[in-house]
Amino acid sequence: MSRDLSIVMYHYVRPISNSKYPNIKGLEIDSFKRQLDYFQENNSIVSAEDVIDASYNSKKLPSNPVWLTFDDGYKDHIKFVLPELKKRGLQGSFFPLARPIIRGSLLDVNAIQFILDGMTDEKILISSLKEECLNHGISEKEYYKLWNSLDKRSRYDTESVTFFKRLLQRELHLEIRMSIVSRLFKKFVKAAAENDFCKELYMSEADIKQLISEGMYVGSHTYNHYWLSSFNYNLQLKEINLSMEFLEKIGAPTKNWIMCYPYGAYNKDTLRILKKLNCAIGITCKVGKVTLGKSDPLQYSRFDTNDYPQ
Ligand SMILES: [Zn+2]
Repeated sequence: MSRDLSIVMYHYVRPISNSKYPNIKGLEIDSFKRQLDYFQENNSIVSAEDVIDASYNSKKLPSNPVWLTFDDGYKDHIKFVLPELKKRGLQGSFFPLARPIIRGSLLDVNAIQFILDGMTDEKILISSLKEECLNHGISEKEYYKLWNSLDKRSRYDTESVTFFKRLLQRELHLEIRMSIVSRLFKKFVKAAAENDFCKELYMSEADIKQLISEGMYVGSHTYNHYWLSSFNYNLQLKEINLSMEFLEKIGAPTKNWIMCYPYGAYNKDTLRILKKLNCAIGITCKVGKVTLGKSDPLQYSRFDTNDYPQ
């Protein structure tokens, strides 16, 4: 019996070192298997439904409960994660984005990851970013003001890489950052056409339906993967509603459902919207254990896979 819960977050789970993208930040499939061995030996892996029940009803979870969550809807999840979970009789919770699946278009968050895979020299990376900013009408003074004012702390990235990501994920005007990301992607990533690249990267609608039919949980990670906290109420509502429509269409729960905040970012408006839409659980990127009955179910913290033996 336990009141503590550990939620673990995964992104890419695939063979990495001998692959086409050897620098992508993710978990080797063999390390994933070892981590599951570790959890099965030391913890009890619980389902999304268990977590909802334990958060709102008196249901107790088994000892040392761990809940496995997989963000972003990568093809890795159907190719490598699902077979491993099935073999072990475990449930995972998956949070795909709606736009890449509906439209077959590449999200900035992923384009940036593959730019970083393609160019590991940070000096070249940062000088290319600066050059692009100047090309897009940002003055040198404004650029350095951004460098000095942005929070460049991160658990896993250097200051330069964090700056690169933040500027292109959030800080610059949407059209400018989209244009810069697409130019840098062409420059540093040797990839097929966007449509083929997306087919390789993301799960299809059929893949997600398969996850559901195999007993996996599928929840919302919004439509576009924007930083919700940088948007006003109505824009956030639109992002969330579009993803709810998608969940409904594929047969995922839309009552007592689960939201996984892109970048872990949310604010008071987000919480108001989620309450209105009967969201049961919201999972963030804050690091730490959840105490059931005490932690706010819409603001549960998570650990990263890197916090556990692999
Ligand atoms: Zn994400």
